[in-house]
Amino acid sequence: MPESLSTDVLIVGGGVAGLWLNARLRRQGFATLLVDKGTLGGGQSVKSQGIIHGGTKYALSGALTGASEAIADMPRRWREALAGKGELDLSGVRLLSDAHYLWSPGTLAGNLTSFFASKAVRSRVGQVKGDELPPALQHPKFKGKVYRLSELVLDVPSLIARLAELAGDSLLAGQQVEPLLDGDELVGLRVDGREIRAQRIVFSAGGGTAELLATLGLQQPAMQRRPLHMVIVKAPTLKPLYAHCLGGGTKPRITVTSHPAADGEWVWYLGGDLAEADGVARDEASQIAAAKKELAELVPWIDLSAAHWATLRIDRAEPAQSALARPDNAFLAEQGRLLVGWPTKLALSPDFSDRVEAALARDGIRPGQHPALPELPRPPLTGPFWEGLLP
Ligand code: FAD
Repeated sequence: MPESLSTDVLIVGGGVAGLWLNARLRRQGFATLLVDKGTLGGGQSVKSQGIIHGGTKYALSGALTGASEAIADMPRRWREALAGKGELDLSGVRLLSDAHYLWSPGTLAGNLTSFFASKAVRSRVGQVKGDELPPALQHPKFKGKVYRLSELVLDVPSLIARLAELAGDSLLAGQQVEPLLDGDELVGLRVDGREIRAQRIVFSAGGGTAELLATLGLQQPAMQRRPLHMVIVKAPTLKPLYAHCLGGGTKPRITVTSHPAADGEWVWYLGGDLAEADGVARDEASQIAAAKKELAELVPWIDLSAAHWATLRIDRAEPAQSALARPDNAFLAEQGRLLVGWPTKLALSPDFSDRVEAALARDGIRPGQHPALPELPRPPLTGPFWEGLLP
């Protein structure tokens, strides 16, 4: 029987939300343990596009109302952390792009008129031309308009590696999580048979959270999965591009991010409308054909004859009501000692931590005294997922 442990905050789920929270709490002197059953960051986090949104995209549908939204402040908070001066020291994490771009092909899309009518947008967006254009769009045949958003794009594997470093000895590989009860009260968890008592327990297990709740006999908060069918393309002719390409609607037609492959080539990761409903209904071959058609229309000067293509199906895990709720805040629900949530975006991990910390402060939870931890089995780190999907 492994020895029992005690800690202040026991976190289940080592994606970006759990790892960020863990690092923040440790910095404030809390004892923490973070349990993951897979690879750290290997869920949605590493498969995200790594964009640290400031919410500008939502102005396309009129959902951005101003600077009061939590998301509006995220680029600043992440920039400070990347510079080693913020709430966490993320110096050394690779910044892929200092800006994300909004790209309107051909004539100005109608939805941009109301977009630029928003004051919140005008202060954060500037048009770029000529050699300020993203490298992939610098071509005589390029027509259209490009706007620089003050958002950034991160290399997620290097982010996860840094957050895991900040976790020190608090990481625990564990497969089976069961409730640890004192009478009716949840006082901790039993992880692979080992008792762990904690002042608070946080579930940040992404798509695994519903199942974790079920092991505690809980159905709330309800979770929903939003399936996506992303496309990956790698070619020697690709140059970096980080942009939402606008169609006529309120969602980007495609969202392109570029990621470094081990052999020095660039991998384009394509999401946006392409990866949503119609894309989800397509099989892999039809989805690749649809992506080829989009790129042939949008960037016809890029020769993709030697390209390698793949697709990736992945669900976004969110609180069930998020389709109706504002898209710009993390979500946290509480039941006694248990806190359960989803950041809803990688960018919103700081907001997720804020919410947990506010709950701890409100309940007067402070760092306690705990025996030193024994050596624990550590969950492995995720790597760039595209390397496994492409030759
Ligand atoms: P996850 O990263 O899914 O991590 C959950 C962890 O919990 C995993 O490590 C898993 O192993 C572990 N786990 C699960 N069940 C258990 C269990 N029973 N016991 C122990 N551990 C368990 N957001 C942005 O801000 N910008 C973007 O550009 C962006 N692009 C995206 C693109 C795609 C295709 C997708 C799918 C999402 C994107 N997102 C983006 C959203 C973002 O990825 C997620 O909101 C964020 O990564 C969620 O982090 P998380 O830590 O909650 O969950």
